[in-house]
Amino acid sequence: MFDTLTQRMTRIVKTLRGEARLTEANTQQMLREVRLALLEADVALPVVRALTARIKEKALGAEVLDSLTPGQALVGVVQRELTAIMGGDDASQTAELQLAVKAPAIILMAGLQGAGKTTTAGKLAKFLREQQKKKVLTVSCDIYRPAAMAQLKTVTEQAQTDYFPAQAEQSVLEIAQAALNWAQRHYHDVLIVDTAGRLGIDTAMMQEIAALHAALNPAETLFVVDAMLGQDAVNTAQAFNTTLPLTGIILTKLDGDARGGAALSVRHVTGLPIKFVGVGEKLDGLETFHPDRMARRILG
Ligand code: GDP
Repeated sequence: MFDTLTQRMTRIVKTLRGEARLTEANTQQMLREVRLALLEADVALPVVRALTARIKEKALGAEVLDSLTPGQALVGVVQRELTAIMGGDDASQTAELQLAVKAPAIILMAGLQGAGKTTTAGKLAKFLREQQKKKVLTVSCDIYRPAAMAQLKTVTEQAQTDYFPAQAEQSVLEIAQAALNWAQRHYHDVLIVDTAGRLGIDTAMMQEIAALHAALNPAETLFVVDAMLGQDAVNTAQAFNTTLPLTGIILTKLDGDARGGAALSVRHVTGLPIKFVGVGEKLDGLETFHPDRMARRILG
C-alpha cells in the first residue's frame, strides 16, 4: 500500500525537527513528498502543480514555522488548500440542484457508459420526491441499448416516481420532446433525461447530447463520472465540458476504494461544482458533496 499523504507529511516534518526552520532545501523535499502523495491519490498533474505552489507559500508562513506541532500545522494547511480547491466553504459552489425555473425543470444526465448515469437518475428522482416533494418524470434517450431503458424504468419504479416509455421507432429528440409534452400536461415539477453513453469520447455521442441540450434547455446538465477513473476522469470531463454547458458534476462509486483525487482534478479542471457523490449501488447511495470530507479522504 502507498503511504497516505498524512503519513508522508508526518515523516517529513519529523526529519525537519532540530532544524531551526524550514529552509528552501527542506521545503523542496517536503513539497516533493506532497506531490508524490497527491499523484498517488489520483490527482491530475496540473492540479498537483497548482496545489503545491499554494502549499509552499503557506508552509513557509508563520503558522507552520512557529507552530509547536509543525507536522499538524502542515497537514492543516494541506487540508485547507484541498478543501478550498474543491469549492471550500462557499455554499454556492456545493449547492444542490438549481431548479427554480418554469416547470418542468429539466435535468440532463451526461457521461460515459458505466459512469452511473442511470443509477444516479434513479437516485435523484428519489431524492427530489422524498426531500423536495417534487413530482418527477424520467425518460431514457438511450435508443441503442434497450437494456438501458429497462434499467431506468426499474430504478424509476424503485424511486416511486413516473417513467415515460419511448416508442421503438422514435428518434432521441422525438422521445425527449414527447416526454417534455407529457411532463407539461401532467404537471411534473422535474423531468430527468437519461442519455446514451459510450465507452469513450465519441463525436456522434457528443453531437447527440449537444442537440438534446439545445432542444431541451435544461436547468441542470450534470456530468456523471466514476471516481475510480482517476486521471482519465479529467480528460472525459474536459471533453464534455467543451461540448456542453455543464452545470455540475456527480462523482460516483466513492464507496469503493477510490482515493478521491478525481474529485479534486475534475473540480479544478472544469471549475464546476460537485453537486453529489454516489456511495452505493442502491438508490439511497447519494450524498451531497462536502469538500472538507473529501479533503480528509485524500489526506488518508
Ligand atoms: P450508466 O451506463 O452511466 O447509466 O451507468 P449505470 O447506472 O448502469 O451504472 C453502472 C454500474 O455502476 C452499475 O453496476 C451500477 O450499479 C454501478 N454504480 C452506479 N453508481 C454507483 C455508486 O455510487 N457506487 C457503486 N458501488 N456502484 C455504482
